[in-house]
Amino acid sequence: MAHAQLSTQKKIIKLMGSRFEITAIHPDPALANTAIQMAIDEITRIERMISSWDSTSQTSTLNRHAGKRPVKVSEELFQLIHRSKKVSQLTSGAFDISFAALDSLWQFDDTMEQFPTKAAIQAVAGRVDYRNIVLDASAATVFLKKEGMKISFGAIGKGYAANRAKLVLKQAGIANGLVNAGGDLISWGKQADGEDWKIGIANPKQKKKIFSWLSISDMSVVTSGDYEKFFTFQGRRYAHIIDPRTGYPVKGMKSVTIVCPDAELGDALATAVFVLGEERGLQLVNQLRQVECLLVNDRDELISSDNLQLHYYKKEGSKRKENPQNPDSGTGEGP
Ligand code: ADP
Ligand code: MG
Repeated sequence: MAHAQLSTQKKIIKLMGSRFEITAIHPDPALANTAIQMAIDEITRIERMISSWDSTSQTSTLNRHAGKRPVKVSEELFQLIHRSKKVSQLTSGAFDISFAALDSLWQFDDTMEQFPTKAAIQAVAGRVDYRNIVLDASAATVFLKKEGMKISFGAIGKGYAANRAKLVLKQAGIANGLVNAGGDLISWGKQADGEDWKIGIANPKQKKKIFSWLSISDMSVVTSGDYEKFFTFQGRRYAHIIDPRTGYPVKGMKSVTIVCPDAELGDALATAVFVLGEERGLQLVNQLRQVECLLVNDRDELISSDNLQLHYYKKEGSKRKENPQNPDSGTGEGP
């Protein structure tokens, strides 16, 4: 038995409007719990910086000054916006934090009573463009050039927070751990029994059955899906992911899971591939090193990128030797 002396400490807590699960493995449970608290403080700090609900956050201040003047922001926020723009370039604008101007048109829950008019959508879509987020490194300012522009980190914030939480835990001496940020996972090291961290993958056509698994040690696994936030209009289901180039919610995709070492990049890319669709999305992922993808289209087909290493159980329903991590997270539950 390897590492029999290790203890696994785990805390479940609501942060950034999502369910976070922080797991720290260490011989000293007190040290592990202190480290977990430091990670929670870090996530809370990030939430304060990027929240659009909190009118005093730097992000809200930026949005209030859209079309008016540049705003000085912290180096951290500046860099987060810089990286967000990089992903926009990489994905031909499929990922765009300035999509948020469209937020006022779409409510992804039951309060959505009628479809916005084409004219209304087009009017607002004109304010969406990451190229109008102007960064001035020497002045450390950000300027949203057009009146009515707005940015939001809904598709990248949890990934960033997961990365930072991992870093804080590692610096506190946690060599083995896992952060699950509302279904966006990042893990490092091994489980307490010395086994790799694993995540179960369900077949979308037989949701209850986990038929394969992924080894996710030193990896992040991030999923964007239409099953958490969506609205139904005239029998069609619309996901909470918007195509910034048209202003309309995306159809045709059920979920996209990105596997890569960096949770922030994974978070942003999952959203981008959702927008790009099966063909163009996979094409992009297959070009990127150390980035893999597993998606479920609206025909419930499970499709993976070229180099995804899925492990299969020998016989479906047979007793498992492996014990995959929380199948509620990531694709485990299926759409
Ligand atoms: P989840 O939050 O369910 O993990 P995502 O990471 O895909 O899923 O984030 C979806 C959120 O990202 C939306 O609720 C919205 O706030 C924001 N968003 C929607 N469309 C885009 C887009 N094209 N680019 C950037 N952010 C987006
Ligand atoms: Mg995302």
